Amino acid sequence: MSNQHGHGDHSNEQGSSHPGASQDAELGHYARRVQALEALLTEKGICTQGEIQRAVEETEARSPADGARVVARAWVDSEFKARLLANAKAAVAELGYEAAADLPDLVVAENTDKQHHLVVCTLCSCYPTWLLGRPPDWYKSLTYRSRAVVDPRGVTREFGLELEPNVEVRVLDSTADIRYLVLPQRPDGTEGLSEEELARLVTRDSMVGVSNPHVPEPAPAD
Ligand code: FE
Repeated sequence: MSNQHGHGDHSNEQGSSHPGASQDAELGHYARRVQALEALLTEKGICTQGEIQRAVEETEARSPADGARVVARAWVDSEFKARLLANAKAAVAELGYEAAADLPDLVVAENTDKQHHLVVCTLCSCYPTWLLGRPPDWYKSLTYRSRAVVDPRGVTREFGLELEPNVEVRVLDSTADIRYLVLPQRPDGTEGLSEEELARLVTRDSMVGVSNPHVPEPAPAD
């Protein structure tokens, strides 16, 4: 593949991302493509069937809970946060999330009172799959990919997040070389929470930037 946007982790595109189309026909098409690619990769000695299987299993094992652990650590450890913003791949490796050397770079963008980040891949569906698991279907939809750039505030509003007019919205368009993870702001009223409790507040959508983390339930009054 010679297009500039060719990337290596789109194994997630075999599935049901095309509502309205015949499911069987779609699966048949993508399954055949996957088989042909696997055959070429193994025939040419680029990788073995076992390596392909392991890569698939590693991807399937990831979920937004992994990204949430990273965010929660950054909230409680300012030095980790500084390392995360400076070199995200190296910092997440400290938590056991080793990225293969040939994976695209990872950039973490911090939300502040003045700046909010929204991640999209306008061309296809690039996503930090190795840290968040498979992207949701809406992330891959043409509607999201086109509207995120022209009306990011309208998009977050539909996810329930009304951004203040004085907050600058920065849309991060993923590329073949860079995947983005949003570091959302730590919610108010979470001072007494443990790192594990904080991680449970971090949603997948907040790491894409379409919403904010959950706000903890207020303690019941005595
Ligand atoms: Fe893409």
